[in-house]
Amino acid sequence: MNLSMSLEGKRGVILGIANRHSIAYGCAKVMAELGAQLCITYLNEKAKPYVQPLAEELGADLLLPCDVSVDGELEAVFHEMEKKWGTIDFAIHSIAWSPLEELHGRLVDSSAEGFCKAMDISCHSFVRMARQAQRLMPDGGTLLTMSYEGAEKVVDHYNLMGPIKAALDSCARYLAAELGEQQVRVHSLSPGPMPTRAASGIDRFDALMEDAAGKAPLGRLGTPEEVGALAAFLVSDLAKGQTGNRIFVDAGRHLIG
Ligand code: NAD
Repeated sequence: MNLSMSLEGKRGVILGIANRHSIAYGCAKVMAELGAQLCITYLNEKAKPYVQPLAEELGADLLLPCDVSVDGELEAVFHEMEKKWGTIDFAIHSIAWSPLEELHGRLVDSSAEGFCKAMDISCHSFVRMARQAQRLMPDGGTLLTMSYEGAEKVVDHYNLMGPIKAALDSCARYLAAELGEQQVRVHSLSPGPMPTRAASGIDRFDALMEDAAGKAPLGRLGTPEEVGALAAFLVSDLAKGQTGNRIFVDAGRHLIG
């Protein structure tokens, strides 16, 4: 076993960079520094000018559009990676979305349409990503997604995203069971609150961050780079014996009531 923490020779995709504050960017930065070759995606033409300079700075091999709600775009990303690399070693899903009126309302008032759209983009897209990725992982690989503590505890103002993250965690476990035979390992990571664009859609998020920093045993918030360091470890050969975990990377916030 190679005991160095290097990702030289590992290739894969990171979905979900919107800007420099994105958790996905923290993952990409650490993994590129450790030698991984990256495929980076952007949501649409409006997002591209923010993501392109980051992809260049990271030395990404591929920069492709990917809106998981547009038929064929996710599949095209994997097709392009297959053309360029043949096989891949990791795929990281760091995306979430909900209609704002649903996110700001009570779960009990959520519409079927809003709930399903949020579930499709934030959760089932991980299953679709896994389906595409495992096809390019004949010798195994790693699939990661981003969950949150609100999946298992009721967190004020997290509303319908709580049950959606719970479903995402469960999908990671079932995918780990289904894909284990081909040595594809699957985990959900659970970062604490961080000031990103997606998080700014949550009501009273500043208060949530202040509370988390105050209560966390490490006395501060976590950072996207810390999530990236965990992702890099899980993708590396050092983590070959692990699958199906939900792992907190939140300065210990989840320990305290
Ligand atoms: P972010 O806004 O930087 O990233 C969210 C990403 O989702 C964006 O890049 C956006 O383009 C992408 N996205 C939205 N709809 C999409 C679609 N239809 N197709 C493809 N991409 C789409 O915010 P972030 O906080 O870095 O979020 C990344 C992940 O981390 C999310 O799953 C989020 O729930 C999770 N998370 C965030 C926090 C936090 O406090 N920031 C804490 C725990 C978990």
